[in-house]
Amino acid sequence: MDLLEHEGKALFAGAGLPVLPSVCVTTVAEAEQAAAGIGLPVVVKAQVKIGGRGKAGGIRVCGTAEEVAAATTDVLAMTISGRAAEAVLVEQAVEIEREMYLAISSSRAHRGPVLIFSRKGGIDIERVARDAPGALVRRPVDPLLGLCDYQVRDVVMAAALGDATTPAGRPLEQELGGILRGLWRLYHERDATLTEINPLVLTKQGELVCLDSKVTVDDSALYRQTDLVPGDPDDPREAKAKSAGLAFVALDGDVGVLGNGAGLVMSTLDQIAAAGGSAADFCDLGGGARADVVTAALDVILSSERVSALLVSIFGGITRCDEVARGLIEAFSQAQVEVPVVVRLDGNAAAEGHAILSEAQLKGVTIAKDAAAAVRMVVAAAGDRAGAAAGREG
Ligand code: GDP
Ligand code: MN
Repeated sequence: MDLLEHEGKALFAGAGLPVLPSVCVTTVAEAEQAAAGIGLPVVVKAQVKIGGRGKAGGIRVCGTAEEVAAATTDVLAMTISGRAAEAVLVEQAVEIEREMYLAISSSRAHRGPVLIFSRKGGIDIERVARDAPGALVRRPVDPLLGLCDYQVRDVVMAAALGDATTPAGRPLEQELGGILRGLWRLYHERDATLTEINPLVLTKQGELVCLDSKVTVDDSALYRQTDLVPGDPDDPREAKAKSAGLAFVALDGDVGVLGNGAGLVMSTLDQIAAAGGSAADFCDLGGGARADVVTAALDVILSSERVSALLVSIFGGITRCDEVARGLIEAFSQAQVEVPVVVRLDGNAAAEGHAILSEAQLKGVTIAKDAAAAVRMVVAAAGDRAGAAAGREG
């Protein structure tokens, strides 16, 4: 589960990390009131679970009450990468001397947490990694030993803060060490897979502050992180799928995939990629094939504008393909299916399934003779539709 910036900052504050005074609001009147309480200038920040808000115009520095009202109105009307900003964070503004990056992230490559620090922050860390790999400190953290003192020193040295002190007289190096230790504690105690501060800012007044927060909590640990209430899901379709008992993952291509079993679905995604296509999402029916489950799966998959063709790929083991075929027919009678659909049925009762589907003559549905043919057909169909849409626009 991804947390919103203001939720992450509440955790930061609880862990003793320095954050600025801020109030999360949903109306212009509340924003004006918050700004008056905090004192101008303030920053109005779109609360959406997506990075790059700054570039999209979702971060606005405001010097007057009128600017706060105008920025809040604008930002509340915004969608960033398809997500609506339903709230804004009104935060005290600061003057920035330097932007840095600090994160603890679960790494597949290291099979554990990795500490990442960069003297250059504020921008995509992927870009720093590409253009200035020397600016990055990347250290695996042993989950049993925890963050070690020498790793803290590595980061502090790389930050090159010299012997500067905060206005209150504390050495900045010591401050940074404290922030890193706090971030590790938070990652560990909150079952996070990511705790990120980008940017971690050195202000012109000589204070270190966490200007942004990105926290992802492992979904499997939510049962024990009981005070973290799952808010709006990262993708609304995921919630729909979850309540129907389906495994659903949104991706960013244009072919919708409905399959049964994780292995089949994964290899189908690979086949689609090998055929030059890309999946928009996938839904795993699991063992059963009841019509209501198939209907729910179609509903979830087809509610995305991304999907320009759908592949239904079923291998019948215990599941009988004739049942799946009946499920599809019933589902098609209930759902509005406007994209081409390619169906591949193989295994248990496949011949019966084919016969049932052929007889039904569902509009826009093609039956493929095998998995490879099905993938070729659906990738071509998605390409045709994309081409036709581009033709209309151009
Ligand atoms: P993101 O674009 O979604 O990562 O949003 P951030 O919260 O990281 O803000 C993006 C950028 O806005 C930061 O890197 C800063 O350069 C700028 N910014 C945010 N808050 C302030 C502020 O208080 N003062 C100034 N001058 N710039 C800010
Ligand atoms: Mn940021």
